Amino acid sequence: MILTYKCPGCAGAMNFNETTGKMECPFCGRAETVETMQQLYLEEEAKAEAAAAAAGEMETGHIDTVNIDVGMGAVDSVSAATSIEHTDDRPHTEEEQIDLRVYTCSSCGGEILTDDVTAATFCSYCGNPTLIAEQLTGQKRPSRLIPFMIQKDKAVEAFREWTHKGILTPSTFRSKTNLEKTVGIYVPFWLFDYGVLVNYQADGQIITHEIRGEYRLTHTDHYDVHRKIHAEYDMVPADASKEMDDHMMDCLEPFNYSAMKQFEMPYLSGFYAEKNSYTDEEMAPRVKTRVAQYGEAHARGTIRGYANVITKGKDIRMSLKKTEYVLLPVWIINYEYKGEHYRFAMNGQTGKTVGVLPVSKAKAGIMFGSIMAVIWGLLTAFGGVF
Ligand SMILES: [Zn+2]
Ligand SMILES: [Zn+2]
Repeated sequence: MILTYKCPGCAGAMNFNETTGKMECPFCGRAETVETMQQLYLEEEAKAEAAAAAAGEMETGHIDTVNIDVGMGAVDSVSAATSIEHTDDRPHTEEEQIDLRVYTCSSCGGEILTDDVTAATFCSYCGNPTLIAEQLTGQKRPSRLIPFMIQKDKAVEAFREWTHKGILTPSTFRSKTNLEKTVGIYVPFWLFDYGVLVNYQADGQIITHEIRGEYRLTHTDHYDVHRKIHAEYDMVPADASKEMDDHMMDCLEPFNYSAMKQFEMPYLSGFYAEKNSYTDEEMAPRVKTRVAQYGEAHARGTIRGYANVITKGKDIRMSLKKTEYVLLPVWIINYEYKGEHYRFAMNGQTGKTVGVLPVSKAKAGIMFGSIMAVIWGLLTAFGGVF
């Protein structure tokens, strides 16, 4: 089942507005809260079900004629979820098999083709925002989300600035055509709460120098340093999308979780959204590695006053306390340069950006080292937050 939130005033398709945090009709300007739109949708759905049941009793059997397009709501009664098989007879491996789904647009009747993880998209014929309800309900329902707070033109502007700053960027690249594929996407993330117990042993060295006659003496005192640290790391994020690059998503952090809202479908209207491709169990190893690094850095950070601290042993135990499935907002600009594909991303809440510019060969050699240094600096800065 797919749905488009329609304006109670004029039945136009409504979008979530990043600035007001409300649903807005681009046709008549009407604004409603997310909660109101969801409530209206549920009421319409109940009416449609009642009408369908009544129609069934009368044995008209024509579910298509049930008018559910009253005002808003508009649940598509003829949507179909089917798998398209490859039609070529060449044998294919499992990796080549894409599970495509076809839905019918509730506004224009056009076909909407998606993959098996798409949860929110647009009709390619009429452009109406379209949600795929079964990707967002039951087990697949996210518990919370951070709504988009930054508008699309800000993302485009940031991208332009980024390309202008890029002394590496050949001027041809900045042409308008490269900026057309800007999309707001709700990326599925798992948030993990871990309790960590770190038992850390090190050799702490204090070095003193002494001049005795014509000799310069160096004394090294060794201290056995032990640290036992218990720490709680809450809401450590890991993106559960196979489409998004893990490292790129990590670089978009931090998100401000205090702005998190209870999940309601209308938030996704006007954006793309993906459901999680991986379970929290599948994601756990990646997060555990990260949490272990935090724990160790935390323990080491408490050891001060030594010239050298050499790790002698460490024992890190982690216990998983909670996981939560959430959607986080990301602006993505896909661009192409000389046949290569690149991606620029912006945190849809904070405006933090990350991207890789295409590099012109002549300058690449000189600059590549410093770019790596910047990325490395970012990473270590995050490690050091804890
Ligand atoms: Zn309207
Ligand atoms: Zn359409």
